[in-house]
Amino acid sequence: MSSVNTAIQLITREQAEQGTANGSTCSPALAKGPWDYDLAEALAGKPAYGPGASSADVAPPETPRQGQLPDEYKRASDEELDVRIRAAKATLGDRAVILGHFYQRDEVVQYADFLGDSFQLANAALTKPDAEAIIFCGVHFMAETADVLSTPEQAVILPNLAAGCSMADMADEDSVEECWEQLTEIFGKDPDDDGRVPIIPVTYMNSSAALKAFCGRNGGIVCTSSNAKVVLEWAFERGQRVLFFPDQHLGRNTAKSLGVPLEQMPMWNPRKELGGNDEQSLLDSRVILWHGFCSVHKRFNVGQIEKARLDFPGVNVIVHPECPMEVVDAADSAGSTDFIQKAIAAATEPTTFAIGTEINMVNRLAAEYPQHTIFCLDPVICPCSTMYRIHPGYLAWVLEELVAGRIVNRITVDAAVQDNAKIALERMLAARPI
Ligand code: SF4
Repeated sequence: MSSVNTAIQLITREQAEQGTANGSTCSPALAKGPWDYDLAEALAGKPAYGPGASSADVAPPETPRQGQLPDEYKRASDEELDVRIRAAKATLGDRAVILGHFYQRDEVVQYADFLGDSFQLANAALTKPDAEAIIFCGVHFMAETADVLSTPEQAVILPNLAAGCSMADMADEDSVEECWEQLTEIFGKDPDDDGRVPIIPVTYMNSSAALKAFCGRNGGIVCTSSNAKVVLEWAFERGQRVLFFPDQHLGRNTAKSLGVPLEQMPMWNPRKELGGNDEQSLLDSRVILWHGFCSVHKRFNVGQIEKARLDFPGVNVIVHPECPMEVVDAADSAGSTDFIQKAIAAATEPTTFAIGTEINMVNRLAAEYPQHTIFCLDPVICPCSTMYRIHPGYLAWVLEELVAGRIVNRITVDAAVQDNAKIALERMLAARPI
């Protein structure tokens, strides 16, 4: 099976040459080099997520921007970049470790020492204490988490600084602080007769280090999509209700699975007074959901599942819990990337799987398990825009800079933020080690 990038190149070429294409992609601009967007952003003075699933999301003005990639990397052919990356990697040896996220393009993942989800990768880096540089081929919050968990001597590098996460950017520290202030005014700070405080903040791993630190400071905790249920149970033991950010869908799907009624899950829109709620509905709430979402997982819908069931009777539909509730309800099961991978690995008979998660991961699973039929529920090729900003050209650049003794694109989390973020991460590990 060809990579997502190769498929996009083919579709756009066919479209240009014949006006028709065998397949479709959400944006023909995906076929270009990401440096075009870095330049376009610089000229427009406005940050953007680039083409792909989150292209319609509004990037906050403080979003990091990537300076221009030196021309030699833009002009280099795939073959030349391959030779240069392998040579730099061989020269650096154990001094550098490359991490590749499940949603990263194959052209980059092929050089990774570890492949996994964000938390697996941050932990994998810990097994390489001698590595002076951790090159995170993922997005900004992942590099921050790796910096929090790594030693101060290790430099975490994000090959393209514009590789953010539109979902993580939907909850900024100021808005969450403001929300917390308003909620504390309504709920007070006193525990109930069972010793449970009025509210516990829970942040998804897909959030800035500043928000993990906010949770650390305020008796809160971090969760992943693998342990969200355990973490919510932990929070309900200690608090009367939860403020869950930034992903409303993971929050709603998890709380629903614990029996929390939908009417006790108001949504907090940071642009509205009291988040768009009245005081009573907040007082009656069990989980207050931040108005955030992942634009990749938002693309999945019930119609796609119905079509898969019609086309492939007996199909096993598995979706990620960042998908909307109706999609999770209509699927056969829902779980993290790890869950999806394990479910496929566990199938002993040839099975047809329709998967609701990012296309790079689905295609990789399809190649890894040829005994099964595995396809993405979304027929349109639309990768995570920000993850797609990492092109082999950027990887070659950061590696060759390291060989030359220079560290570029280092992600550093402030020491005080690190300490508090670690508290929230340690609470998560203590809730149940993963
Ligand atoms: S897939 Fe969604 S949550 Fe993951 S990095 Fe991309 S935008 Fe963020």
